[in-house]
Formats: sequence, C-alpha cells, structure tokens
Amino acid sequence: MTTSEAIGRDPGPDLLAWPLLGSLLLRRRLWQGLMLAVSIVLIVHGFLGPQLAPKNLSTLVVWVHYRGLLIATLLLAGNIFCMACPFMLPRDLVRRFTRPVRAWPRALRGKVPGVVLFVFVLYTYELFDLWASPWATSLVIVLYFALAAAVDACFSGAPFCKSVCPIGQFNFVASTVSPLEVRARDSGTCATCSGHECLTGNTEREARGCETGLFLPEKVGNMDCTFCLDCARACPHDNVMLTTRLPGEELMDDRSGSGVGRRSNRGDLALLALVFTFGALLNAFGMVSPVYAFQQGLAAALGTTSEAAVLGVLFGIVLCLEPALLLGGAAALSRRALPARLGLWTVVVRFAHGLVPLGVGVWAAHYGFHLLTGLWTFVPVAQKAAADAGLPLLGVPRWGVGGLREGIVQPIEMGLLGLGTVVSLVVLWSIARREAPRRTLAAYLPWAIVALALCASAVWLLSQPMEMRGTFLES
Ligand code: SF4
Ligand code: SF4
Repeated sequence: MTTSEAIGRDPGPDLLAWPLLGSLLLRRRLWQGLMLAVSIVLIVHGFLGPQLAPKNLSTLVVWVHYRGLLIATLLLAGNIFCMACPFMLPRDLVRRFTRPVRAWPRALRGKVPGVVLFVFVLYTYELFDLWASPWATSLVIVLYFALAAAVDACFSGAPFCKSVCPIGQFNFVASTVSPLEVRARDSGTCATCSGHECLTGNTEREARGCETGLFLPEKVGNMDCTFCLDCARACPHDNVMLTTRLPGEELMDDRSGSGVGRRSNRGDLALLALVFTFGALLNAFGMVSPVYAFQQGLAAALGTTSEAAVLGVLFGIVLCLEPALLLGGAAALSRRALPARLGLWTVVVRFAHGLVPLGVGVWAAHYGFHLLTGLWTFVPVAQKAAADAGLPLLGVPRWGVGGLREGIVQPIEMGLLGLGTVVSLVVLWSIARREAPRRTLAAYLPWAIVALALCASAVWLLSQPMEMRGTFLES
C-alpha cells in the first residue's frame, strides 16, 4: 500500500506522464553525461587552472554553486542530483568488465559507514580548507570517482549509494522533506504482478531493477531512493509514477518499508538524522567569526597549537557532547509519558527524525546564502577559463558580477530556517501522538524545546558575519 493509499488521499499527478518532462526525467544517462562533462571541466581547471579559489571553477562551482543547487533541488523537487550522479558512469563501465557477486559485508550494511565518511568530509573540509584549494577539491572529486567504482566493482547491488556515499546519505535524509516521490501507481496491479520487475529487472526492456533493493509496492518514502527511475523503465505494467506528496510526511510514517524497514527500529538511520542536523549547525559555525575566538580559547585551554586536535574537540562537542546532553535530557523527560518503559537511546531513535526538517532548514539557509550572494561569480571565471584554453567564445570576463545583496538574502535564510522549524514541530507532535497517545503533550514538550533551542542557536549563527568562502565578495 502506498503512503497516499494508507492515508486515503488521491495519488496525485504523475510527472512521468507529462509530455516533455516525463521523457527528460527518464533519460538518466543524458543527465549523468552532462554532469560527467562538468566534473571533467572542474577537475582539469582545479589541477591546471589558477590556484586562487575565487578564480577557479573547481572551488567556486563545488563549494558555492553545487551545494546550494543541491539543497534547493532537494527542497523543490527531490533527489534529482543522485539521478544525475556522474560517479555512476565510470562505475557502470567498470561493471561491464567485472560482474561482482560478493555481497557487501553484513557489518557494514546500514548507514554507519556513510555517517563516518560524512563526518570525515566535514572534518577534512575544515582542517585542510578545501574551499580554498582548487587542486585539493579536484583531488576529492577524482577520489570520489575512484571510490564509487572500486566499491561497486567488488560488491554486488549498490552498496556505494546505499551505505557509503556521504553525499548520497545527505540526499536521502534531505529528500524526506522533498515534495516528490517515486511510487507504485496502483497497488492492485502490483498485487497481480508475478515478475516484480521493478526489483528484479526486465531483460526484455534491458532495464535493471532497483539497485538499492526497494520493492515499489512496499516502498515507504524517499529513503534510499536515488530517483534513478530504473523501476519505471523495468515495470512491464508502467505502474510506476513520480508524484507529489506532503513534504516530511514519511517522517511521521512508521510503517515497515521495503529495503529500509521501520524507522523507529533503525538506530543507524537515527544516527544519520542526528549527524545531519547537528552537522548543519557545526558546518555553519565554521563559517562565522566567533568560531575563531572559540577555537583560540579551546587551544589555550587544551594547551595545544594543533588545529587537528582543536577541531577534533570542537567536533566532539557539537556532534557528541551537545546531542548527548540535549537529546538524553529530552528522552529522559519524555519517556516518562510513554506507555512502555524504554531505554534512552530507543526514545531518541523514535524522535530523532523529527529534527530533520530543522536540519534541512539550516543547510538550506547556509548553502542558500553562499549560492545567492555568489550567484553569478562563476560567469567571469568560466569566461577566463575558456579564454585561457584558447576558446574566447564566452567573451571578456566581467569580474564585477556577484549575486543578491545580503539584505535580500538574510530574510530568505530566516524564512527557510523558520519553515524547517515549524515542520519539525509538526513532525515531533505526530511522533509524540503515536508514541504516547494518552500523554502526548508531556512526551512532546521536551522535544519541542530541543527543536526551539536548536533553532535559536541557528538564528544566532546566521546573524553573524559569514565568511564569503570561495568568492571575492566581502561580508
Ligand atoms: S513491476 Fe510494476 S506492477 Fe510489478 S510490483 Fe513492481 S511496480 Fe508493481
Ligand atoms: S525505487 Fe529504486 S529503482 Fe526506483 S527510482 Fe528509487 S532507487 Fe531507483
């Protein structure tokens, strides 16, 4: 049963049936090819172009434009960037020569490897100032291609997307608040279907089945869905649709979904949701002026000049100590209202997903700031890169162009944060009602206070002068 059927709503429009859009969406290879071409340009310019971040396409496009467009697309549509993922092309090429049969190790299934890599990327980004180094940014892209191909050359299925890729895990979490979802159109058709081609593949149509193991009639939400639409190509009954839904509704839905299971039973999913949310605050904190005074104070208190150690402690405070205190406290208070006697971590796992919309709001506000204030900065850099390559087709570089003024962008930032907070409060209420039908308010209040406290700290962060990393613009 689809989510819409479960809550008795019209299944909505099918974007795959729209004349031009539908066929464009189903041409995954086209989008992957375009993204691959862009990636090659970025890699080459990063290694061979000027090693000044604002004048290099690699640093500028990756750290200013790509991140902003990624979160904007997730918010406005869905996991389109995974659909167009360029890392999959070399990986698929490698798989033409090697057919991996080994299964991904059981111990590494789930989200823990992706969470570890996600934290590692945040840490190395700060430690090595990746935004300021074109060659290092290009190296990261090359390593990413190599890792995707290596993992999926050795193991069957799509373990890289499902468990390893930190960008993919970020996209999976953020896409829980996306307005679009891939789902089966009619559960009756699925009930009479014997081939289950959406999962197993369709040799007649030369279409593979869902590589992340989602069986359409039992799929709940966007978690683990890369929007690749292999299922739509494979289904012999054309029973797969890309349709609209209420953003965030899956965070309130605790049915057991294909390939994912029950959210409330998945500690690794809760961990991912929490690292996503607190990581958003940490990443924004790294951009504002008070972070330098805080790091200096930390270094003096620790008696060290090692940036790696100071950053390690800062990460420990924001990603371990702060969540332990806030969530442990909220869980201890709210579990008194729950009918069953549950452990603290179990309570955290059940409520953690309610904080995701707030986390999305912080990421969107932060990356949206960089994207909007530096919107056109790629134009002169692309003009100069083309001229340096002997192709002055794009004209004389117009170095003066920038983006929107901070005065315009700040209300947008606060609006995104406010929207995320409101959705979080609604989702938390729904979870509290499910977990404590008799004492909903008592179970809800501690979590609502946590959400409001995180929102207040995000407001403070976003009100600070933010570093204009990767551009010539000044704050
Ligand atoms: S192949 Fe199509 S009809 Fe069959 S189960 Fe999958 S979505 Fe349903
Ligand atoms: S359900 Fe699977 S095959 Fe279908 S779009 Fe999502 S990831 Fe791709």
